[in-house]
Amino acid sequence: MKTLLPTSIAGSLPKPAWLAQTETLWSPWKLPDDILQEGKHDALLVSLHAQEHAGINIVCDGEQSRQHFVTTFIENLRGVDFEKRKTVRIRNRYDADVPVIVSEVSRDKPVFVEDAKFLRKQTKQPIKWALPGPMTMIDTLYDDYYKSREALAWEFAKILNEEAKELEAAGVDIIQFDEPAFNVFFDDVNDWGIAALERATQGLKCETAVHICYGYGIKANTDWKKSLGSEWRQYEAIFPKLQQSSIDIISLECHNSRVPIELLSLIKGKKIMVGAIDVASHEIETPQEVAATLRNALKYVDANKLIPCTNCGMAPLPRSIASAKLEALVAGTEIVRKELTGGLNTEAYTTQRGTTDSESLSIT
Ligand code: ZN
Repeated sequence: MKTLLPTSIAGSLPKPAWLAQTETLWSPWKLPDDILQEGKHDALLVSLHAQEHAGINIVCDGEQSRQHFVTTFIENLRGVDFEKRKTVRIRNRYDADVPVIVSEVSRDKPVFVEDAKFLRKQTKQPIKWALPGPMTMIDTLYDDYYKSREALAWEFAKILNEEAKELEAAGVDIIQFDEPAFNVFFDDVNDWGIAALERATQGLKCETAVHICYGYGIKANTDWKKSLGSEWRQYEAIFPKLQQSSIDIISLECHNSRVPIELLSLIKGKKIMVGAIDVASHEIETPQEVAATLRNALKYVDANKLIPCTNCGMAPLPRSIASAKLEALVAGTEIVRKELTGGLNTEAYTTQRGTTDSESLSIT
């Protein structure tokens, strides 16, 4: 049995107030080390419940186990000095103090695999797990060893591939790589960025996704977006090569975005996670607004390849707003499902593991 338009989220959900400062990105943990792991798992359960309660089909951990989508992974690697920090410009947009690569990078032990196993035990829904992409990783640190962005990206790709294979073995159905750097360094993306991403997914049998985006709704990003003009055509430069790549799913923002929707025709054949929820606004989308975004995307994406989704992570939002946005996403999707099936009762569709792809519509 397949799910028509299976819903999902791009990444994070807000953390509970007892775990980290709310409405704050990258907030430090509030719990002491001896109970932190238990606290993170409790938060994962809360986040999973919010998704399942809303009716989200492909669920994730809501990134409750990480403080930052890139550095939490890097912190677990050898070869990185977190004490000796340097200030660098992130994606040419804002300065940040970042760790320094001081020697060969390697992964001694799995980073998220135990968390993924925990999530797998809690749900029968298909699960998705997010990792940082190689290009975004190198953009979030200072390299004092390899002295080549490409060489370092390649090393990270090999490490990510080790982690991804263990996540797959833990029962993860979709492994997503977050690559916001993909809309900044176009030449590098085409020269080696997509190749590095493919290296990170080498040998995987589960589905693979790449999340590209214009960033969270923080000031540095919204200011940058204002400078981009009325149409964001950046993806035009990278979609042709991404379309040729082995990556199965592409996640991008559509609602309240200036990315011209017709650019989706450049990635024909890929499954698309269509962002129908704006994460930079506290305004709750109406189901009709969500439906309108999905209908627009359906002009360029086959129904059996469309995954209704959020534009990006919702970590900085208040919990009540994030939950309401999840419900809007599901309600809007339901409207379009009914239109596509001619009003047949879509509750007859169920989601089970291994049925994330909705290639054929079958109804019980
Ligand atoms: Zn994003």
